[in-house]
Amino acid sequence: MANVSEIFGCNVFNETVMQERLPKNTFKALKKTMAEGKELSRDIADVVAAAMKDWAVEKGATHYTHWFQPMTGITAEKHDAFISPSADGKVILEFSGKELIKGEPDASSFPSGGLRATFEARGYTTWDPTSYAFVKDDTLYIPTAFGSYGGEVLDKKTPLLRSMEALNKQAIRILNKFGKSVTRVTTTVGPEQEYFLVDKEMYAKRKDLILTGRTLFGAKPAKGQELEDHYFGNIRTRVSEYMKDLDNELWKLGILAKTKHNEVAPAQHELAPIFGTTNIATDHNQLTMEMMKKVAERHGLVCLLHEKPFAGVNGSGKHNNWSMSTSEGENLLEPGKSPKDNTQFLLFLAAVIKAVDEYADLLRVSVASAGNDHRLGANEAPPAIISMFLGDELTNILECIEKGEAVSETARCFMETGVSALPRFVKDTTDRNRTSPFAFTGNKFEFRSLGSSVSISGPNIVLNTSVAEVLEEFADRLDAATDLEAEVMAIVKETMKDHKRVIFNGNNYSDEWVEEAERRGLLNLKTSVDAIPRFGMEKSIKLFEKHGIFTATEVKSRCEILLEGYAKTINIEALTMLDMAQKEILPAVLKYNKEVFETLKVKQELGLNVSVEKEVSYATKLSNLTESLMSKIEELDKVLLEAKNYEDALESAKYYREYVFEAMQTLRVVADELETMVASVAWPFPTYVDLLFYV
Ligand code: ADP
Ligand code: MG
Repeated sequence: MANVSEIFGCNVFNETVMQERLPKNTFKALKKTMAEGKELSRDIADVVAAAMKDWAVEKGATHYTHWFQPMTGITAEKHDAFISPSADGKVILEFSGKELIKGEPDASSFPSGGLRATFEARGYTTWDPTSYAFVKDDTLYIPTAFGSYGGEVLDKKTPLLRSMEALNKQAIRILNKFGKSVTRVTTTVGPEQEYFLVDKEMYAKRKDLILTGRTLFGAKPAKGQELEDHYFGNIRTRVSEYMKDLDNELWKLGILAKTKHNEVAPAQHELAPIFGTTNIATDHNQLTMEMMKKVAERHGLVCLLHEKPFAGVNGSGKHNNWSMSTSEGENLLEPGKSPKDNTQFLLFLAAVIKAVDEYADLLRVSVASAGNDHRLGANEAPPAIISMFLGDELTNILECIEKGEAVSETARCFMETGVSALPRFVKDTTDRNRTSPFAFTGNKFEFRSLGSSVSISGPNIVLNTSVAEVLEEFADRLDAATDLEAEVMAIVKETMKDHKRVIFNGNNYSDEWVEEAERRGLLNLKTSVDAIPRFGMEKSIKLFEKHGIFTATEVKSRCEILLEGYAKTINIEALTMLDMAQKEILPAVLKYNKEVFETLKVKQELGLNVSVEKEVSYATKLSNLTESLMSKIEELDKVLLEAKNYEDALESAKYYREYVFEAMQTLRVVADELETMVASVAWPFPTYVDLLFYV
């Protein structure tokens, strides 16, 4: 086993390497760029590029790539060799500042939601110096942002960086009011990542897993997760070997992989890193997902990142732990030690409460996908209703402030002394609420609605931007106020009055909450198709335009991409289902029918005095189900054909949700029932037991 401190970050062009290899001035300029988001000059870029190349070549790199995050949700890369011909017929290895700063991949084959049609195919990638370059597979990876020739943003990184900038700007205004001069406020994220591991050979026999990432058929196994014996359970050797290997690979890339354990469902696991700056955490989460898959192959395993690989068993999510932190290292959601800091904490807390209530729909959109639709509201993940858990103590304090009279006496002095309140904040003594979509956990919020495969950039763009919007409003008020304390208290009070409906500390899985939420006027956007159109509404466009995150055109195009993505996913799933049903299940079932009917026939023909009553009813049931399978196949085929008639993205997505998805469900019910009847040896592909219990 390698020495962790030696291998950690060994493939990363990090600050230590920079300091070693760059001239002092260059290093200083680069650090300034990284810390403050300032632009980097060309001559400095040349020096950085040369040093990067030398370092990468020593690590065995022959190529470099601008690594970017298009709207597919995964990363993209195109590799170029460092080679350049020299006069003597040989090559020299070169890498210029220009090549480091800018790349020109063809943008025409990435989703653009209509932006592509009107603009040139050319796209640009631009170096993001705030995220370290690294070496992987003999290639120097340079994290970049991706946009079109016309300046439209085509990726997930640019708006994320912009949203961080927006929040930075407003948070600094607030902190200045509290007499603090900080250079930068960044948002921090620690994403806990869930995943499944299945045996590669079993996987290879399932077209649905290969093509869609989830099982489209499969009867419930005799044992599922009901014994609750898997969560935090003993990690099996093969999985343990995998996890060690994965940790090593991640550490080499400078990823702070910290915690690993078995999850609730059989074959399900989780990995959590130590939190970092949001854009780096995003890059790292993308890399983590990629490495999870790659490393699995070496161990004869396949890593499934789909939100719901198995029906009837818990699906996989990703918890986005989020906070704001100053360049001086102060966590703005830490309740703090002095009374003044308490006031400051309450103001930032109020900003998050208001932002979550006002932009709950956008938070919902940010986690919307066909895969995640299977989880949200299915009593295994938070419901589609966005609400917030603060715990009883914090809620009490806020309620005190809201009530006015109590503010000046009880609650306020409670806070001003700080002493009685603080330990309880920090320790989070209130019982852990696992059912809330958005929970305060001591000094950060945990947004729990994310699906396991989603890029965390979307949810964080919404969080950062909506909180920035509210902070701006608060900062304006503080600008105009004479008494800071009093104004903060007034703001907190108003926030509670107007937005406390979003606070809910009870059981979010209960039916009562669904009714209660409706009474409170909270949105319940059940499916992606219900949620996505909210993104394109006037109010959202206004928010994103105001903070320079997206233009109206970009918002509309992103809506299209999401809706199209939904429809395409269901379409692929439906086609895969048809293929499996027609070419695998039906032939197997017909063959089995033949066996059963032949047995029956033999028995009857012999004319012995034996009863064939059970055989007849068994054969009849089998035959009827087989008939039913054939008609469900026909039905799915028919609705799928009709889907072509819908051109509008929203209409099409709606159609897929209402008709195609429903037809898929009914076909599955019949096929799954047949699975329980047909002999194991006759079933054409591995079952849930094979997939869930053989790793
Ligand atoms: P939990 O609160 O779920 O029991 P931890 O306290 O270990 O577990 O945190 C879970 C995740 O939250 C980890 O990835 C951790 O790094 C991250 N986290 C902790 N503090 C912060 C913070 N200030 N900002 C963002 N993420 C954080
Ligand atoms: Mg957690």
